[in-house]
Amino acid sequence: MSTTTEHTDAPASLPPQPAPDVDTQGFWEATANGRLAMCRCINPQCRLWMMPPLDACRKCAAPTNFEEVSGQGSVYTFVVQRQAAVSGYLDNLPYVVGIIELDEQPGLRLPGRIVDIIPEDVHCDMRVQAALEPLPGGDYVVPVFRVLH
Ligand SMILES: [Zn+2]
Repeated sequence: MSTTTEHTDAPASLPPQPAPDVDTQGFWEATANGRLAMCRCINPQCRLWMMPPLDACRKCAAPTNFEEVSGQGSVYTFVVQRQAAVSGYLDNLPYVVGIIELDEQPGLRLPGRIVDIIPEDVHCDMRVQAALEPLPGGDYVVPVFRVLH
């Protein structure tokens, strides 16, 4: 039987974990099941997508649910992180965090890292595709984006 402590990794080496609430739980349940889903109004005359998610449509007040999206979109804006600032990413500099406008609706934007690319090659309006990857340190699965070929 080992006498070493169970947690050999310092907490600072792991990224912050999501904290789902009643409005975002559906998003995290979907990613855990391998689907990228966004909040959408169920009213057939409306069908507005919403980010951040809400329990009632901000346009017509109808209930909402989570529906799968293509994961395809364009870089709306981005930052290149060159200094160690967030635990879990301290040894992986530089990296790019983007705000991606999804194809489903103008203004429907989702943040995520843009991976497998040299930061200098990232530009606004670049076409990207979401992929789901495990977030170290917990049970969550998060979207990341790669250049769409
Ligand atoms: Zn609506």
